[in-house]
Amino acid sequence: MMKRTLLTVCLIWIAGSVFSQGKWDRKFEQLGTELPSPNAYRTASGAPGKDYWQQQADYNMEVELDDQNRKLSGKETITYYNNSPDQLRYLWVQLDQNMRAKDSNTPLVSSSQINEEVSGKQLATMIEDFDYDGGFKITSVTDAKGNDLKYMINQTMMRVDLPITLNSGDSYSFNIEWWYNINDRMSDGGRSGYEYFPEDDNAVYTIAQFFPRMAVYDDITGWQNKQFLGRGEFALPFGDYKVKITAPSDHIIGSTGVLQNPGDVLTAEEVKRFEQAKTSFDKPVIIVKENEARKKEKSKSDDKSTWEYHADNVRDFAFASSRKFIWDAMAVKVGNKTPLAMSYYPKEGNPLWEDESTKAVANTLRTYSKFTVDYPYPVAISVHAASIGMEYPMICFNFGRPDPDGTFSDQKKWGMIGVIIHEVGHNFFPMIINSDERQWTWMDEGLNTFVQSLTEREFYPDKPLRRGTAESIISYMKGDKEGIRPIMTNSEQILQFGPNAYAKPAAALWILRETVMGPELFDYAFKEYSRRWAFKHPSPADFFRTMEDASAVDLDWFWKGWFYTTDNVDLSVDNVKWFKMEIEEESFENRAKGQIVNESGEDDAKPTNFEEAAETFKFANTEKGRSEFMNSVDDAAIKKRNADKNFYEITFKNKGGLVMPIIIEWTFKDGTKEVDRLPAEIWRQNEEEVTKVFAKSKEVVNIELDPFKETADTYTDDNVFPRVESPSKFEEFKKKN
Ligand SMILES: [Zn+2]
Repeated sequence: MMKRTLLTVCLIWIAGSVFSQGKWDRKFEQLGTELPSPNAYRTASGAPGKDYWQQQADYNMEVELDDQNRKLSGKETITYYNNSPDQLRYLWVQLDQNMRAKDSNTPLVSSSQINEEVSGKQLATMIEDFDYDGGFKITSVTDAKGNDLKYMINQTMMRVDLPITLNSGDSYSFNIEWWYNINDRMSDGGRSGYEYFPEDDNAVYTIAQFFPRMAVYDDITGWQNKQFLGRGEFALPFGDYKVKITAPSDHIIGSTGVLQNPGDVLTAEEVKRFEQAKTSFDKPVIIVKENEARKKEKSKSDDKSTWEYHADNVRDFAFASSRKFIWDAMAVKVGNKTPLAMSYYPKEGNPLWEDESTKAVANTLRTYSKFTVDYPYPVAISVHAASIGMEYPMICFNFGRPDPDGTFSDQKKWGMIGVIIHEVGHNFFPMIINSDERQWTWMDEGLNTFVQSLTEREFYPDKPLRRGTAESIISYMKGDKEGIRPIMTNSEQILQFGPNAYAKPAAALWILRETVMGPELFDYAFKEYSRRWAFKHPSPADFFRTMEDASAVDLDWFWKGWFYTTDNVDLSVDNVKWFKMEIEEESFENRAKGQIVNESGEDDAKPTNFEEAAETFKFANTEKGRSEFMNSVDDAAIKKRNADKNFYEITFKNKGGLVMPIIIEWTFKDGTKEVDRLPAEIWRQNEEEVTKVFAKSKEVVNIELDPFKETADTYTDDNVFPRVESPSKFEEFKKKN
């Protein structure tokens, strides 16, 4: 009885050692049901399907900026094209300004607490102690003939009830009139608004989300009418815009689109300089100079001018207006197009803005066009707006202001260049490759931050890279998991917004490009994703699938680990054995003299240096196989070739959960080094522990994992053998005596 039990235990132990798999988390199984089923709209390859459709909304708008009362009023005609196969009985329109309305849910759903010290701004925000009366005042919603349409406003969404059913293939035009009080950005915050300059009693207006905008209706969500709470950004259909903006005649207006009537709103000299800029490829031409802007600041015109801008195939529209604006522009060669890179900024931005802004816009267009699609729009604009970075089609608002005496630190300059690249880069993600920001922040912020870092590497090698490197994400990934959510989390529920939606996906893509796929495969697939989804609405699955489809690299394990979990990379060298083949004359034990045999417990059984790791194995002749020709190898030759080799049997552990390629640097006794790279698939049969044998002609004195710090390994003390930080028990014993 006793004997039999012992035998059973023995058998289990043997089986366990042969088939040991660790805990199986299906890390290499396909994403499968995590992704939506492919269909006629979106294919299994990640491309738009044969029946792919998207809606279109064209806008005809007239808006007026009331500089004295800080008010914006407007009327628009929206023509909505129902390209879906569905019948629509109502349309959803986004009223984003209502996030700032008195009855907004946004303050109600933000938690608050009182600390030892509470600032005025904190307290006012906490208890909504503002007298600003924000939100859209909708004055009419009418059909093409001017008849009232029924509508219902639910917070930031307005449902317009159609008098007829809008059939597939039909379009519908209707009108909305509105006005709202523009928020003071410096006190009330916001992606848009105005900044007041008390010294000269002027304002810089950066105006966006300023008109009722159509919501997206698509094959994934139906109507994307999830409320705007202030964080999860926007989902918008493409369309053509014709916009007339009326403002004081001494204002300069920069806007999405192409100016239709420069002769009406610019001086003859300004028109001349503007024309010059269109052929100036080496440096910007200043269209409105600083001294001219300073002169305008001193008075206020009672006259009005109307600037007309047209923009085709854009998902949104924004503009900036001020009599303080300096304006410069240069042409950029991109494919067969020559878009204008332009900047608008008050004198407070100089000298930094005159020197760097438009150049940064041009550099952004160059790199992004290389990695995605050629920049398709006629202009790309950077507007100086203190404290914020915010993007719209063709135009964005960016921080970076020197001290009042015109001096600035390197950090200020790099911050300003970084934000300009980032916000101009948003033209590609999400303005052209039009993802749903209300749902997924990483699809635009993560991809954009990644290409931003490529741009900075290419054009600003001295600029410290804040994001987009493997090392930049380590402190976040090794943090408390309670404070971390997967990248695949809806925008509103993300914790640690910047690391989650910007830095981690950007670092993941960098690692994917450099370490997993290699630039050639990655760049082709990334460009293919951009080509497929330019001027369309991609989803995460379309990105994941395209990257595999265009590269023949199975990346499901990578998406699973990096995008669907909060695991981190932490590999270790767990055990090292150094073998030599036994040869008759001389046993290896004798050659590796000073071998320490440690008998004091299991942990200590692992060698801490190469002497302790030394062992031998016997060479045996290959057994003849059962089939006729199998195993007919030349044993003698193999033995001869390898008699002097060092065999290293290394056990690696995956402690962080993320499976990753194993990168091993060997340092030999003669000081030379060699690097081996094992693909992540080494982990596919045991996700926690793998053992592998390496043959080296030279004797190894040091082993290091991830020697170039390319995988964001969070704990690196155990990447090294012999361990540097923790001396062996024997060493400690020796020191004590
Ligand atoms: Zn961004």
